[in-house]
Amino acid sequence: MNTRTVEPTRFAAIQGASWTIGSLILFSVVFLTAAGCSGETDAKPAGMQDKKFPVMKSAQEWKEILGEDRYRVMRLHGTERAFSGEYHDYKKKGIYVCAACGKELFSSSTKYDSGTGWPRFYEPIDDESVGESRDESYGMVRTEVHCARCGGHLGHVFPDGPEPTGLRYCINSISLMFEPAR
Ligand SMILES: [Zn+2]
Repeated sequence: MNTRTVEPTRFAAIQGASWTIGSLILFSVVFLTAAGCSGETDAKPAGMQDKKFPVMKSAQEWKEILGEDRYRVMRLHGTERAFSGEYHDYKKKGIYVCAACGKELFSSSTKYDSGTGWPRFYEPIDDESVGESRDESYGMVRTEVHCARCGGHLGHVFPDGPEPTGLRYCINSISLMFEPAR
């Protein structure tokens, strides 16, 4: 009698434990996939803390200008969810400018298909448009990229892009605004 009542309970406990471990693995996979592109982080890389930019504003001013979602990505170095942004599969011809200050950042002619849910470019529009900093969050060493005028966080650059540069600028849609070619 005792055996019959104890065993199903023990079985349920084991099932519960497996479910929990499964969820943790699934969570880790989803989390790491997202971090693989732009990196979900709410802290500025150390190299960004004291940088000066032509356009500087207080946190409160940026919050008012950008709104909550854009502020989280551009000023707190967050990452938009994959496939949630406007431009990951956008193919129109024109220029992508900084969503915070309007500086020209990327041309549609250097944008390429990624299929990973964030817009990708193989180079910025010119040498002066995008700045870089070292990002060591999440146990990875990555190169963070930001607008050279206002310091707004854009995404990261990786050395596995297509020719002619071999670079992959993986950028949050929400950090960009599109201006169609005239
Ligand atoms: Zn900017």
